[in-house]
Amino acid sequence: MHGIIATWRMAKEGIEQSDKMLKEGKTAAQAIEVAIKAVEDFPYYKSVGYGGLPNEEQVVELDAGYMDGDILSVGAICAIQDFANPISIAKKLSEEKVNNVLVAEGAAKYAREYHFEEKEMLTDRARAFYRKKKKELAAQDELRPYDGHDTVGMVCVDNNGSVTAGTSTSGLFMKRSGRIGDSPLVGSGFYADSEVGGATATGLGEDLMKGCISYEIVRLMKEGLTPQEACEKAVNDLDAKLIAKRGKAGDLSVVAMNNKGEFGCATNIEGFSFSVATENLEPIVYLVTRKEDGHCEFEEASQEWLDNYMKTRMAPVEE
Ligand code: ASP
Repeated sequence: MHGIIATWRMAKEGIEQSDKMLKEGKTAAQAIEVAIKAVEDFPYYKSVGYGGLPNEEQVVELDAGYMDGDILSVGAICAIQDFANPISIAKKLSEEKVNNVLVAEGAAKYAREYHFEEKEMLTDRARAFYRKKKKELAAQDELRPYDGHDTVGMVCVDNNGSVTAGTSTSGLFMKRSGRIGDSPLVGSGFYADSEVGGATATGLGEDLMKGCISYEIVRLMKEGLTPQEACEKAVNDLDAKLIAKRGKAGDLSVVAMNNKGEFGCATNIEGFSFSVATENLEPIVYLVTRKEDGHCEFEEASQEWLDNYMKTRMAPVEE
């Protein structure tokens, strides 16, 4: 049984490619990289890869993480500038015996050494968002993910039962230089264990990391919870704890898949979507609704929603 699940609608085209690869017998390692690269390369997704929004100094700093659940190998890069495909660098790092997590210039040096594609990642469109946000910022009292939040995180299972997980993000818009969130942190942004499954998160990194939420979901699945139960429990427990201890909880959204291709999702916000494909399910986008009791339900996105999504992503930036 194979499958791939990803945070947000933006992963749909990528998982379509990966779904084909998995059907042809390609590995979870190969398929997840192709799917995440597709998101990184698309200029209209303003939170991942090319076209990602910059930090407060108008510099695009990218984070990515990768885990091979067969042997628990991990690779991650943090705050790297001007490389086309952070996920590929993170994946390559996971093959090293040590030095698996590299930041900023050290990460760039490694990427140059292995001839990963260099590319100016700040687009004119991202510059326009920056100028617009600069004007709005005076009225904003705290760092918030813009329009919800949008890291791409994926979990992939292949026919051999190998599980991989990966993330790629430009992080919070207007973050401080050098800031990283949960996305390149193993256990927080992503986790995979082929004996169980994998999970990945998106939202306010500063809060997601407080619960090591991706590891927690995999741990709960190992205890026997279904992916849906594990996602809901992890999100609801962390949400409640953050509110109890700190007065509020940031955005927390997660998806998970076990090594049988069964999947789940949970969120504490409105407007979370995810993309998924399995052996028995053609690539599809689901919209998630959180009920008052904390239970999350999901239904297929309508054609109207999908059309509107692309229209708003590609609309001119009104400054
Ligand atoms: N989790 C990401 C971060 O904190 C943001 C996001 O999901 O958009 O960097």
